Formats: sequence, C-alpha cells, structure tokens
Amino acid sequence: MARRGLALSLIMVIGLGAAIAFGPAEPAVAQTDWSSVGLGQFINALVVDPRNPVQVFATVDSGLRVSQDSGASWGPFITVSTSGPLQSLAINPVSGVLVVVVGDGQIRRSVNGGVTWSAPQSGPEGQIVRDLLYTGGNPPVLYTHSESQIFRSADDGVNWSNVTGNLPDGSPRTISLFALAADSRIPTRLYVGRYGGLGGGLFRSQDGGASWSQPALTNPGGSTPDIVSVAVSPTNPEIVLAGSYGTGRIFRSTDSGGSWSAFALPLGPFEVAYVNDLYFDQTAPGRVFAAVGGSGSQSAGIYVSRDNGAIWTRLDASSPSPLTGNLTIATVAGPFGDVVLVVDGGVIYRRTGASAVPNLSVSRIEVTQAIQTPDRSVTLVQNRPTIARVYLNVESDSDVQGASAVLYATRNGQPLPGSPLRPINPGGVITAVRSPNAERFEHTLNFIIPSSWHPGGLMALSAEVDPDNRITERNENDNRSPNYLNTFLNVTRLKTVLIPIEYQRNGVGPVLRINLRDLPAFGMQGVYDTFPIAGAANSVHSPYHFTGDLTTGAGWSQLLYELALLRARELAVSNIGDALTLPKYYGMLPNLAGSPYLGLAYRNSAVGIGIGSSLDTTAHELAHTFGLQHAPCGATMNPDPNYPIAEGRIGFVGLNVRLRQPMPTRYGDLMSYCKPRWISAYNYEKLFDTLNQISLAQAGPAQAPEPAWLVGGAIGPGGLSGALSLAEPLANAITVTASGSGAYRLELWNAGGVAFAYSFNAELPEAPTTSGLSAGFAFVVPRSNDITELRLLAGDTLLDSISVAQFAPSVSAQLASFNPSDSRRSVTWSVSPAPGESDTTSVRYSADGGQSWQVLGQTDDLAVSSLDFDLGDLAASADGLIEVVVVRGATAGSAQVSIGPVANKPPAVQIVQGTQLQVATNEPLVLQGNAYDHEDGTIPDGNYSWRDEAGQFLDSGPLLELPPLDALTSRVISLSVTDSAGVTAQASVTITAGERIYLPLLRR
Ligand SMILES: [Zn+2]
Repeated sequence: MARRGLALSLIMVIGLGAAIAFGPAEPAVAQTDWSSVGLGQFINALVVDPRNPVQVFATVDSGLRVSQDSGASWGPFITVSTSGPLQSLAINPVSGVLVVVVGDGQIRRSVNGGVTWSAPQSGPEGQIVRDLLYTGGNPPVLYTHSESQIFRSADDGVNWSNVTGNLPDGSPRTISLFALAADSRIPTRLYVGRYGGLGGGLFRSQDGGASWSQPALTNPGGSTPDIVSVAVSPTNPEIVLAGSYGTGRIFRSTDSGGSWSAFALPLGPFEVAYVNDLYFDQTAPGRVFAAVGGSGSQSAGIYVSRDNGAIWTRLDASSPSPLTGNLTIATVAGPFGDVVLVVDGGVIYRRTGASAVPNLSVSRIEVTQAIQTPDRSVTLVQNRPTIARVYLNVESDSDVQGASAVLYATRNGQPLPGSPLRPINPGGVITAVRSPNAERFEHTLNFIIPSSWHPGGLMALSAEVDPDNRITERNENDNRSPNYLNTFLNVTRLKTVLIPIEYQRNGVGPVLRINLRDLPAFGMQGVYDTFPIAGAANSVHSPYHFTGDLTTGAGWSQLLYELALLRARELAVSNIGDALTLPKYYGMLPNLAGSPYLGLAYRNSAVGIGIGSSLDTTAHELAHTFGLQHAPCGATMNPDPNYPIAEGRIGFVGLNVRLRQPMPTRYGDLMSYCKPRWISAYNYEKLFDTLNQISLAQAGPAQAPEPAWLVGGAIGPGGLSGALSLAEPLANAITVTASGSGAYRLELWNAGGVAFAYSFNAELPEAPTTSGLSAGFAFVVPRSNDITELRLLAGDTLLDSISVAQFAPSVSAQLASFNPSDSRRSVTWSVSPAPGESDTTSVRYSADGGQSWQVLGQTDDLAVSSLDFDLGDLAASADGLIEVVVVRGATAGSAQVSIGPVANKPPAVQIVQGTQLQVATNEPLVLQGNAYDHEDGTIPDGNYSWRDEAGQFLDSGPLLELPPLDALTSRVISLSVTDSAGVTAQASVTITAGERIYLPLLRR
C-alpha cells in the first residue's frame, strides 16, 4: 500500500540522521521535566533498593535518608553512628541486609531495615574503606576497598578477607581505587579502576581477587588513563564501561575487558571532564547513563546511550548542567516508568517520565475554527470549517515516530456518520514529540470535522492514540481519551454590500478602478479566515465614483461619509450605527499612491472603506463596524482598555483552517497595527457576541414609509463645531423615532416651534490618528411641508441650521443618443431656475419601477450636466428607470428617464481555494464557493451545485467536503451557481495529490 511505503521511507530517513556519529542534543524537554530536591547535607551515595524499585536510600553526613516514592520526598534522618558521615551503602539483593561505611572507614550493618546497627566482628584489617558492592550469586558476596586494598565478605560484612592479591601497589597510599564492579553471571570476575600517583588504569580479576591483570586500556597517545568509574552490563556482562578522569573518555569493551574502544565526549578548548558515574538502567536493556562533571559547560551534563555505551548523546538540553559536585546517578521506578536521579553535591535532580519504553496517551483535543484556548472557551460556529488537533502525552526519553490516532464522534451516545476519522497528517502519522509546540501543525494529529457533525446539541469527541497498535507501549490501556463535549452554534451570515470605488483624484486625470473579480473571495478572504461566521451574503454594488482627495485623511473621511449617506439613502435606514440586520456597506479601493491609510471605518456602524488588495484590511475595518476597538500595538489611538494580552498579541495559538497553518502567539491581533496579524480569542468572542445579537434580533414591527429627509453632516474636531451638509428629500423611507439619545440634537422647526427633535452621537472614524478628522452622522427624519428650518445643536449651543427653501428646482432629463450594440449610455439634464450654490445632483437607477434605488453618481459641480453609465453594471429590469435628483437646500426636484430592458447578469462565481490546489494524499478536503449576483444579491445555498470531472453531481451548498485523494492523482471539481433568472455561471479547481512538504516556520 502506497501510504505505508511512504511512511516507512520517512522513518528511515529520520533514523539515518539520528545515527550519524555524535548526535545533537536530545530534543528539548521542558524544564519542568526536571525537578530538584535538596537534602540539606552533602550526599555521598544514592542506592536503589534492589527488592523494592521505588525505595531509594541516600547517605548523607549525619545519617541515612529514605524515599518511598522514587525520590520525590524523603523521610527523616536515620542515625547510624555519631562517629562520622555516611560514605556508602550496599543492600543485599536477597536478604535486604543493609551495610554502610561510616566516615572514619568503619563498617556498620543492620538486619532490620536500619532500626538498629552493629559493627562487624572483624573489620577489614583496620583499613579506611570506601565503596561497597554486592555481586551476584546466592548468597551475594560483598566487596569493599581502601586506597590500596580490596576485601571480600560472604556473610554481609561480619567477617572479611583481603583479596588484593597481586594487584600492583604503588608506594604506600599513592594509589586510589575509585571504582569496583563485578560480572553478574561470574561473581568472581571483578574490575577495579585506579587513579592517581604512579598511574591509573583498569584491572581485572577472574578468580575473585586472587590474581589481577591489567587489560590494554590506553589513551590514543598510549598513556594510561585514570579510571574513576566502572560499570558492567547486568544483562550482557561481557560489556564493560570505564570512565576516565580529565580527558572525557568513556572506554568500552564487549569481551569482558579483552579489548577496548573509546568514545570521546565533546570538550571545549582547555576543558576538563570527568566521568563520575556510569549506570546501567535496570529496567531498559541497553540503556546506560553517564554523569559527567567538568570545568566547562560544553561537556558537563547527563549523557545517555541506548546501545550499551557505543554512542552517547546528552540526555537533553535542559538537564542540570554544568554539574560540578560529587556525581552519582541512578534510575528508580516511578508512576510513569522510571525516574532518573542525579546527585550533585547536596541536591538530587529528578527527571520523571524517562522510560525507554514509551507510553502514549491523549493529552487534549483542541477543536478550532480560527483560534482556541486551552480551556476550550472559544465558541464554535456551525458550518464553519473546523479542525480538531489531538495533542499527545509522550512519556519517553525520546520522540516517538509513527504515532497515529483516530477520532470518534457521538451524539446522544450514537456514533456519527464517518466516525472514527483518520488524521490528515502525511501518511496519517506524526513523530510524537515530548513537548508539542502548538505553533507546529505537524506536532499534533489533525482531523477535519465534517460539517454534518455540527448541528444540534452536544457532540462528544474522543481520540484513541495508536489504534493499530504499531507502537509497543508500557501501558496499552490508556490510549483512549475521555469524551470532550462540543456545541456548535448557529450564526447569521454576514451581509455585506461591496462597493467598487472608481477614484479620480480631485475630479481630474486618470480614473482608478478596482475589479472585485480579481480579488480572492471578492476581497473578503481575510474576513472568512478570521470571523466567527459560516459564510457571507455578499452583493456587489455598481461602482461608486469618488472625486475627493485620498492622499489626505480628510478625503478618506469624506468618502466614508459619502458611503454612509449612500447606505442611508438606499436602505432608508435610520442611522449609521443601527439597523444591525441590514447589510454593511464596504467600499473597496484600488491601490493608491501616497495614501495615509489602508482602510477607515466608523466604529459601531455599518460603513467602512479600504484598499481591496490589502489582505486583512477588510476584516479589520468591518470588525470596527461591529464595535471592536484597536488592540494596543503600534500607533493606536484609544486602544481597547480591556484588551487582555500585552503588546496587542493574540496570546494563544491560532489556526488558519483554510491553509492549515498555525498562527503564532506573538502575532498581533487583527485590531492592532502590528503585523503579521490574526484574530485573538478575545476579539473573536466579541465579534461572535455581536453576530449572535444579529442572529437573535427580531424584525421590528413593520413601519410605514413616509416622506422623509436624509439628514447628514459632520461634527468638527473637538466636538464644538458642526455643520449640516444636507437635508435631502426622499419620497418614502423608514424614519428614526423622535427623541433618540446622544450629545447632539437635530430639531425640525415650524411656525409653532420645535415639531420634531432627535438626539444622536456622531461617529469618529477609527484611524491611527484622528486629529483633523470630523465625526460623521446620517439618518432619516420625517418630512412635512410646514417645516421651515432644521437646526443642529450641541446641548443649548446652535451649531448650524438649514432653511427650507420655498421653491423646489425643476429638472428635465433625457437619454443621449446611443449605439444599441454598445452597453454604454449617457443621461443629460438641465435645471431651472438656474442652478444655485447649494445644489447637489445625484443620478440613480431603479430596476423595480422606483421602489428601490441605486445611486450611480453624485456631484455638486454645477458645470456637470451629464453622467455616463454602463448597462453591464446595472441589475436586470423589464424597464429600467434613471432618475436625476437635484437637491437645493431642503427641497428637491427630479426627473425620470426610461432606459428600456436591462439584461440579466450571470452570477459571479469563485472557488475560494483558487483554480489550482495541491493537497496531501489521505487528506480530506473542504472546498468553499463564493458567488454574488447583481439581481439577487445573496444566492440560496440550493443554487450552488458541485460536480466532478465526469459531470457527476456531488453536493449542493457553498461548502463541499471531498474524500481523500490517492497519491499522484488529480481531480477537477466544478461549481455551478444559478441565479433566480435561471442563468448559470461556473468556476473550477484542479486538485493534485502529493505529499505535502512542511517547511519550518521562520523565526522572526
Ligand atoms: Zn483600525
């Protein structure tokens, strides 16, 4: 099977890399893997009870300490003798008799676990002895040594005999014996290391010490090394290791000392390293530890070998180093396998979970749609593409290759269709690392949750690691996780009217245009990636002509205000900041030179603008309209005081589900000015709350439209000045309810006084700096013929007023002659009496006989008396209507021209993933379609139709979930979307399957 072959070859490559000579440091283990315990006194020896592997003894200056829990905690002092510190300890592996050496060289023994102690009948000839060692056999034989002599006892130290034999003796007291080790199968085979004075070296006896020989163990130059540690493999006693002093070499023999090779630890210049202890792990065959002290940080540390001492690597980067004291090392049994204990002076360093036989379990399941927190507090949205990341708990002293998992899903105890899922990782497996980094997608097993699992009630997820039992584990019964409960909530689709802006700076020179079809997802890609929505209902407006100056903040502010007026005029909404259920208006700008902003929006409003090709600008500005403030990073005015994470960072790891790319915690929040940006959990939830309000909002009681004025204007910087810039008559519109609330007030006066009053707040654009920017307002109030004046007030201060003119202008309009084969048209008009200073002329289009209007252009340039437009930009109509409206003060005149039938436009269709897509084999796919239609706006889900290359129908709706592809195959998937007039448009994507290559994230 191809999948298995690929996985195996991957493992082989990794294996080769690890086997090359002296490896790099072991993969980093979190510092918390090491803990330390101080015993308050210098520790001379650490001995694991051979009959109870969680019990460990430590000899210290004033007695003995015992731990019953693998070295985590230590009992009180057991006093042995007052004559000196305890040097060493040996435990009879059969009887449990304790034998210690007290500091003055005297031996004490206890047959009752340390309650009472006695001296031997005959000490080892008055010598000051040091180490103690039980060899194998029954009864076990006990050895000790002084600085020049070796002694043997067959009765637990009651009687001793001298077995120094012919061991070469230097001049008195110039030779030290530092190490003693015995062959477990042949108890009479002994090794001693020697240090100092007249020469070091290693010596071997085959006859229990009666005679000694010196194997040929030399440094590369031929000199004899000082040997300060010796160890014999308990399972392969032909393997003998000897640690040197100073040169940092570990000598190794595989024939019981007959011949030797050496492994050199990496020494820095002028560095000295001493291999203080060598320790064969009692539970993991082949594993051996070395405690290496030294004068520099390069060599000192804990080393491990998994091949009986042939190749050594530093145990891990965070081991307690450099080690400088009296080093001994031991492993004891612990709750998660064995525990490595390292003594350095008076401190025991303890590393848990260090077993050679790994154990895997599920540490957590993270269900994410953009970002998720460890406490799983981020809301999940129905029908939003979703990935579950399964984090593994790895109890091992190395990473575990070839780890897999499956994901089960149930609702009300019943399995959901497709459960269990397989992961989408290449080959379905990962190398399970001991400290998974959530910023690395390949550190988790990842699953695409089908949208059919989302709706309705609690869904339980449970993961099972190593379901095919390919990995030998210490515990095969802890592989299945408990259930993680999830609820997916329904959120309304985001409604947005996208407005392509045609920009002519100051009304002269070239016109810059943007074509939304050129932008990914019509410019909404960043919104889909970061908002808690399942999709958006976009419609595209006819282009809006803007002739201000977008090289200035004031120009941007003006365009924003004009779009607010446009929205109020077209939707007949009562205010910039309300009518949540109505679409947002978002103006998309072409690329601009010399622009002060990338985007601008009113907060808590419905209007924004931005440069369309700027990837996350649309998301940032639309988020402002949902009430989000800036996150505190970069030059932010009025940052959100409650933003919870320093420097405006996102703080938790996000995930771009579409790209399957984690977003590092250091990224700035979408609402900050620090890039790269991603949405924080905090702002994601804020957006969700607002969108949820929209979902829950009830349509208010139907209100009758009435004659109205669209009132708009600006409040100047500081809020002390203001101007009413228009009171535009509207034939019929929904109006605001009288009274309102806010710092400013509009009053409508008639002969009797104030006939209508409405209080409101003006909206300041969200910008890096708001100095010089005006706050805008726009809303619709009732119009009646008795009104003579509109007044704008701040408190009792009159800011501005408009007198209602008595005579409305008279307008005539006509369609200029045109070529029927050309879609371009032109309307011309004239006004009488002669145009006045305050005239504003707008040209608008209705496809429905005047019930709703779309503004095509607007000018206050009195010299302009015609407008060109294109039928290709207009919604279909049996008889399209063009109206020219001239507003003079608070009065208006208008004229309408029929333009005849306007053809239906096919919908515009895109597949969000593009036209070419490379995926991994075994990776299920989710394709997302996007469409908008001039006539319909939103297109119902049922009108999306997905087909394969053979024309076979696959599914309907904006999302398509596809099964995994086989290796080296490709598919062509098409999406057809049909509008209400039955016109269909199509997009397609070619999907190619191959192994995805994951590149490491760049560190920035
Ligand atoms: Zn902003």
